[in-house]
Amino acid sequence: MASESRALRVAEVVRAEIAQLLSKGLKDPRVGFVSIMAVKMSPDLRYANVYVSLYGSEKETKASLIGLRNSAGWIRRELGRRLKLRLTPEVRFFEDMTLDKVFHLEEVLKDLKDSEEQERMNLIDLKGVVEECRGADSFLVTTHSNPDGDAIGSLLAMRHFLNALAKEDVTCACHDPAPRIYDWLPGATEIVNADNLRATYDLVVVLDVAQLDRIGSVALRLSPEQRILVLDHHREENPCGTVNFIDHTYASASEIVTELFDASGLPISREAAECAYVGLTTDTGSFKYANTDARAHRCAARLLETGIDVSDISSRVFDVMSLPKRDLLRRVLERLQVSDCARYAWSYLTGQDMIEAGAMSEDVDGLVNFVRNLEGVEVGMLFRELERNRLKVSMRSRGRLNAADVLRPLGGGGHAGAAGATLHLPMEEGRARVLQAVEEALGAIYS
Ligand code: 5GP
Ligand code: MN
Repeated sequence: MASESRALRVAEVVRAEIAQLLSKGLKDPRVGFVSIMAVKMSPDLRYANVYVSLYGSEKETKASLIGLRNSAGWIRRELGRRLKLRLTPEVRFFEDMTLDKVFHLEEVLKDLKDSEEQERMNLIDLKGVVEECRGADSFLVTTHSNPDGDAIGSLLAMRHFLNALAKEDVTCACHDPAPRIYDWLPGATEIVNADNLRATYDLVVVLDVAQLDRIGSVALRLSPEQRILVLDHHREENPCGTVNFIDHTYASASEIVTELFDASGLPISREAAECAYVGLTTDTGSFKYANTDARAHRCAARLLETGIDVSDISSRVFDVMSLPKRDLLRRVLERLQVSDCARYAWSYLTGQDMIEAGAMSEDVDGLVNFVRNLEGVEVGMLFRELERNRLKVSMRSRGRLNAADVLRPLGGGGHAGAAGATLHLPMEEGRARVLQAVEEALGAIYS
C-alpha cells in the first residue's frame, strides 16, 4: 500500500503524461474535446482513475468516452514507457460531471435571483395582470404627465381592454390633456384631469411609467391604501405598483396591452388596435429606433389584421406640424450648438419662447430629433425652461452612449436611445451639469 502523499505524486505525474498524450491527439476519431479534471490513484497504485470533462452534445460526449476507454491500453503502454514505475497502472476513464453541475448551479442561482427580484418588486406576469383586472369592478387608468403617443395609446387601449372584459366603470385620467395629434383616438376626449376623480377605485392601472411622481396631480389624489397595477416598459428598480408588470424588452407599453387581449383570449377591437398602433409606432419612431424588434413588428401585424388604416394614422400623427411647433423648430435650429468634439449637440427653448410661439408642451415633442439628426452628432439634447428654476432635458442617442444611464444620476431616466429628466435648477446651471455628464460619459467610451 503506497502512502497517501506518494499516491498524490503519482497521480500528478500520470495526469501530466495523459494530458500530453491527449493534447497530441489520440488516433481514435471519436475522442472530441477533453479536459482532465482529476486523476485519482487506487491505494495500491494499480489503477489510475481519470476524471474527464467532455464537451459537445450527449451523443458526442458518449462517443468521446468510448474512444478514450478504447485508447486506455495504448495510453497505459505509453505511460509504462515514459514513467519509471514499478507497476504501470491500468487507466480507467470516468466522465466528470462537475462542470455540468456548476452550470446547473448557476441556473439555479439565476432562478433564485429572478424569483427574489420578482418578490421584491411584486412582479406578475400577463396572466396575473388579467386576473387582477378580472377581479376588480371600478378602474382608474392613468399615465405620466406630458403624455406622448405611447402614454395616450396604451392608456386608451387599456380602457378598451377593460371594456372587452365587460368592465364598464372605467375612468381615464391624466395630469395633461391628450396632445391634439392624438385627440381623434377613440376615447381620447373622455380623458379627465385630477379634479374629476373619486376617492378610491378597486384598481388603478398605471401605464408607461412606474414612478408616482411622474404621474403629476393624479397621483396626489390616490390614497396610500389604493391598489395599483403598473404596466411599464422602462427599466425600473422601484415600481410604485402594489403589483407590477415591468419588462423593458418591450418597445412600447402599447404592446403589453395588446398582449393582454391574447392572454385573456379576447379579440382585439379595431378601436383598441388604433390606440395601440399609435403607441407602438410613436415609441419605435415608425419602426426605426433600436428598440424595434421582431415582436414589435408582429404586434403591428396583429393590429393591422383588425383593419386599421395605417396610412391615415401615420399622416395624422407624423405628417402634421402645428404653426407654434414650426415657430419653436425655427428657434431650436437657430440656437443649435455643437460640442468641440462634434459628438454631441444641444439647443434650448425658454418659457418666453413658448409664450411668443403660442405653443404648448406637446409642440415641443420630437424637436430634439432635429438636434440629434445633425450629421456626425451622436447625442442630441433639447433643454426647455419649465419655470424659472425648473428645466427639462430631452436626450436622444444614436451612438454608444446610454442616455438613460447618463440622466439617471440627475433624477431622470428612460431608455438607452431616448431619455429625459427634470432638473430643479436655472437653465445655465442645469445645462452645464448635463453637458458635463455627457462629456464624461463620451470620454469614458472613446478614451
Ligand atoms: P422625452 O424626452 O420624450 O420627454 O422622454 C424620452 C424618454 O425618457 C421617455 O421614455 C420618457 O418616459 C423618459 N423620461 C422623460 N423624462 C423623464 C424623467 O424625468 N424621469 C424619467 N425616469 N424618465 C423620463
Ligand atoms: Mn412608452
